Amino acid sequence: MSGPTTTKVDVYRTADGRIFEVADPYYLASCDACGWVGSTELCGGGYWADDEDVYCPDCHRVGADIGKVAEAAKVVEVLQPDHATLTASQAAALKWLREHNGDGVFDRNGVLLAAGEMAPVMRSTWNALRDLGHVEFYLNNRRVRIVEQVAG
Ligand SMILES: [Zn+2]
Repeated sequence: MSGPTTTKVDVYRTADGRIFEVADPYYLASCDACGWVGSTELCGGGYWADDEDVYCPDCHRVGADIGKVAEAAKVVEVLQPDHATLTASQAAALKWLREHNGDGVFDRNGVLLAAGEMAPVMRSTWNALRDLGHVEFYLNNRRVRIVEQVAG
C-alpha cells in the first residue's frame, strides 16, 4: 500500500461543473482545439516556465496551458498532504482523538474511551489510521495514541 501522500492536490471545477484533481506542482490545462481538460502533468514538456512546451496529450496542439476551459475553472478545494489519504470518517476520528488528549483506551467492545468520553468511531477506522501511520496501538493493543507526523 502507498504511504501518506506528500503532495498538495488542487480540486478544480470547470464552468460546466466537471471536477478535476491536480497534484502539485502541476495545474489545470485544457485544449481549445479538441476539448481535452486535465493536469499539465499529462501535457509533456516543462511545466515550469516554457509555456510553449505544454502540449495537449490528445491532439498535440500547443497552448493547453492557456486553454479557455482551464482558465475559467476555479479551485474549489485544496487537499493538504495530511488529509489527502484520509476518508472523511478517518479525518473525523483523528480530529476527535486530538481533542480528547490524543490518547485513549479501548473498552471490551472495541469502543475507544478518551478524556472520559466514548469515541463515535468504529474500531476498523482506528485500524485504518494505524495502517496509515497516524495512530499507534500500545499496551497489547488496548490503548491508542496519535503519532505526531513529521512535517514534510
Ligand atoms: Zn487537444
